[in-house]
Amino acid sequence: MCAATLLDNVRTYFNHAAEELALDNGTRSILLNPERVLVVNIPARINGSVQVLRGYRVQHSSVRGPYKGGIRYHPDVDLEEVSALAALMTWKCSLLNVPYGGAKGGISCEPSVMTSGELEAVTRRYVRMLMPNLGPRLDIPAPDVNTDERVMAWMADEASILTGQNMTSIVTGKPLGLGGSLGRRESTGFGVGCVALEALRNLRMEPEKTTVAIQGFGKVGKWAAQKLAEAGCRIVGISDITGGKFKSDGLDLESILEFMDSSPENTLAKYSGPRVEDITNEHLLSLDVDVLIPAALENQITEDVAPRVKAKLVVEGANAPVVPEADAILTAKGTLVIPDILANAGGVVVSYFEWVQNLQGYSWDFAEVNKRLDQMLVNALNEVGTLARTLRINLRKAAYMVAVRRVAEVLWLRNGI
Ligand code: NAD
Repeated sequence: MCAATLLDNVRTYFNHAAEELALDNGTRSILLNPERVLVVNIPARINGSVQVLRGYRVQHSSVRGPYKGGIRYHPDVDLEEVSALAALMTWKCSLLNVPYGGAKGGISCEPSVMTSGELEAVTRRYVRMLMPNLGPRLDIPAPDVNTDERVMAWMADEASILTGQNMTSIVTGKPLGLGGSLGRRESTGFGVGCVALEALRNLRMEPEKTTVAIQGFGKVGKWAAQKLAEAGCRIVGISDITGGKFKSDGLDLESILEFMDSSPENTLAKYSGPRVEDITNEHLLSLDVDVLIPAALENQITEDVAPRVKAKLVVEGANAPVVPEADAILTAKGTLVIPDILANAGGVVVSYFEWVQNLQGYSWDFAEVNKRLDQMLVNALNEVGTLARTLRINLRKAAYMVAVRRVAEVLWLRNGI
């Protein structure tokens, strides 16, 4: 039997919510299928030879607003993965009530073997090939795996050249000097931290008495760790692709971050400290902690891993780190799982703030961005929590119900069939 794909899992979660909402089959079909799928063959000269790279943009839904979603550069990018991530964006934006639909894009390539000039040329051609379908009121890309502020700057510049107008608001996640927002860099990790802290408050658990383990110490994991440590939590375990570190009375985050910044590999592998133990990624997932944050990759907590998870609270920093079978096991044993479409939505919320600031031509300060981010995430968590308690369902099903219902209602209002 083939393992379920990310697209299967996203559809499973959608179908569970659609069932509970008693959505009719026509609405389900509309919401299961992307509105538009763009596939482009991008000629590129890489390391002296001409190659054709496959690029994608899947525009899943524009029912609630312009399409919104990141661009990923990775050899595994394919139409199915991009389609799953595009649908996730629709549900995430709807759940947080930001006025966007959902989309995702990507190019199947290996950026680690490409020069900066080659990456720039590929990025600019991708924009030229998609351009009639991108725009500040149409489809607004952002960074994702292996794309960053620099790639967004190239995209904004190419769009401006093509249209003859300033087009910086066509992308979010830009450098500050080009209209980026303060707080955008930290936003996803801070959001994971905000949501975890609000859940602890609801569970009447004090941060000072709370232990945390985090799988993945990249853009999301690092900032989540800092937010939680600032609130008094003890971060006892962290890991990256090279393995993990454990210290029962709490790791010294400052020294770890300093070490990583100064090491050329930028990994945890060679980090050591007094009473710091090396652990495996598998061990990290089963540590006896209060909060577990999978913030690395999809499909990490499987049917085999779930029975060994001891945390009371699992906060999904990564997209789809818990497979549906494992989600059922965790729910049955009383573990509270905060789903990805809520837990890691901080990035898209601050992307929305960036777009609003661009359209206003006015910048907010760091404190303003974070105050608004915290408020929107806490509101969404409490809305989902109330529905989950009322219907006695888990948070994921409740989150999908809120998100899907909001899109379906606007679809019916627009009634464009
Ligand atoms: P990143 O590349 O900055 O960091 C990923 C981390 O995971 C690194 O520490 C890496 O070493 C580690 N890792 C990779 N493979 C691993 C493995 N097999 N076992 C353990 N650790 C492993 O990426 P990121 O931006 O932090 O994204 C992490 C996850 O969060 C992804 O699922 C991404 O889609 C999701 N996400 C990111 C954002 C964002 O704004 N960055 C927003 C929403 C969702």
